[in-house]
Amino acid sequence: MLGLLKARPGSASTHRARAGRGKAAVTFAARLRVDHVSRRYGESFALNDVSLDVEPSKVLCLLGPSGCGKTTLLRIIAGVERPTGGSILIDGAEVAGAHRFVPPEKRGVGLMFQDFALFPHLTILGNVAFGLRSLTKQQAQAEAQAALERVGLGYYAHEYPHILSGGQQQRVALARAIAPRPGVVLMDEPFSGLDSQLRESMREETLAIIRESRATCIVVTHDAEEAMRMGDAVALMRNGRVVQTGTPLELYRAPKDIFAARTFSDLNELPARVQGGRAETPLGTFPAPDFAGGSDVIVCVRQGGIRLKAPGEGALGRVLDTRFLGDAGLVEMAVEGIDGPILVRVREPDMPLRGTEVGVSVDECAVLVFAAQDAQETPSS
Ligand code: ATP
Repeated sequence: MLGLLKARPGSASTHRARAGRGKAAVTFAARLRVDHVSRRYGESFALNDVSLDVEPSKVLCLLGPSGCGKTTLLRIIAGVERPTGGSILIDGAEVAGAHRFVPPEKRGVGLMFQDFALFPHLTILGNVAFGLRSLTKQQAQAEAQAALERVGLGYYAHEYPHILSGGQQQRVALARAIAPRPGVVLMDEPFSGLDSQLRESMREETLAIIRESRATCIVVTHDAEEAMRMGDAVALMRNGRVVQTGTPLELYRAPKDIFAARTFSDLNELPARVQGGRAETPLGTFPAPDFAGGSDVIVCVRQGGIRLKAPGEGALGRVLDTRFLGDAGLVEMAVEGIDGPILVRVREPDMPLRGTEVGVSVDECAVLVFAAQDAQETPSS
């Protein structure tokens, strides 16, 4: 049902620009603001004082582990759940707050779920046209057909959903979400039901269609790579709070804490002590200007930021094992002075032989330093 929400009468998103055949219908993008939103169930907070600002036509990925509140936030923006505090604004107009609640079908929001949620008893065209109730039947069918053409399924309009593959059903769900030309599109783990190859192509295709439609979009995912690939911005959530928001590159380069760092990169974590503004490890000493002398820290080295060289250059290491990952190889190394193995990601042609001795050096830009004490704590916001 929620994928079928109608455009808000009188809102910018109801303006109808004619789209050419095979093009996503163009909407007028909406600005979405989540303002200090909380949602409490009994004594516990599913969302705790969450604020976000999504610029018109931008894609924001909500990223976080299971149970951190992503779906609850999406449901509150859609209007199927009410916040217990704070407000939601679309184009500056409050749609949920202490004194106002606009029902879902009046918000100009389209939704797409991971399970596609198609009606089995309706034709594919009927599924897409279902949310176009403000139009005449003829208009609705023409709009639905255009949306189906855009996702490459015009040919199947009069068939029923059960004949479609998972990827095709996903396309129908996308056509259904964009057909009413919503100002905001919300997607809850839209690709998680697809196998990895299909997932990649659907991700690209969906992104292209969303950009073409100019809708403002929120995508929920627990996959950091997906968030970085899709999002103009990423909001990292944990325990009902937004921990950090920024562009994918900002979050990757400057994660707020070690838990955020682990989300965006595979890391080697080395305990170290700071002396004179530098953290000393067997792989080298690295800048740690924010820490006082004598502080215990964890030096995090990205797996892709370690270089294997000739023995004698850098620290001495021995190859314990190698794993072939496709385009890359993962090398397990023993390094003098470090307990436990170090993992190094190399290009496939550069994979060394097991048992080889090599020099190991680190790119300084692949290093992040965090307080050791913070790494011990249970993640909290
Ligand atoms: P997932 O990735 O597993 O879908 P999520 O990040 O989307 O997780 P939510 O589904 O939003 O998380 O749930 C956040 C928290 O709120 C969880 O602890 C969940 O148990 C709780 N919660 C959600 N809905 C309800 C409800 N109707 N009643 C009680 N608790 C709820």
